[in-house]
Amino acid sequence: MPIDATQPYDDQNIFAKILRGEIPNRTVYEDEWALAFHDINPQAPEHVLVIPKGAYVCWDDFSANASDAEIAGFVRAVGHVARTMGLVEPGYRLLANTGFDAHQEVPHLHVHIFGGKPLGPMLV
Ligand code: IMP
Repeated sequence: MPIDATQPYDDQNIFAKILRGEIPNRTVYEDEWALAFHDINPQAPEHVLVIPKGAYVCWDDFSANASDAEIAGFVRAVGHVARTMGLVEPGYRLLANTGFDAHQEVPHLHVHIFGGKPLGPMLV
């Protein structure tokens, strides 16, 4: 069920549990600001999720309320992960579903990194 992007942060969401080490994940990268791990249901040959360490429901919450240091750290982590995965050439796609119409399912901000094949034009 997609989430309401304006809901308060729920610290029982699955990515909060992953951050606390309560649920296993296949970690790709971790630093002070972000954790990157393989999506459990990959939609492309390379499909990694990058999440901020802070408790933010979605892109709207993060962009409005995170500190400049958190935003810079997270954005740099996303770029670093894609780069170290070798995706800059031939290319990759970022996606941050936000709220109901975008079908965001997990209420902790996550950026999808897709790559490993020609992805074609945007679907919407
Ligand atoms: P959303 O629709 O943008 O919220 O995408 C949520 C993503 O989280 C989906 O691609 C799921 O496959 C992925 N996902 C859900 N639970 C887990 C998990 O425990 N580990 C890794 N990925 C997960």
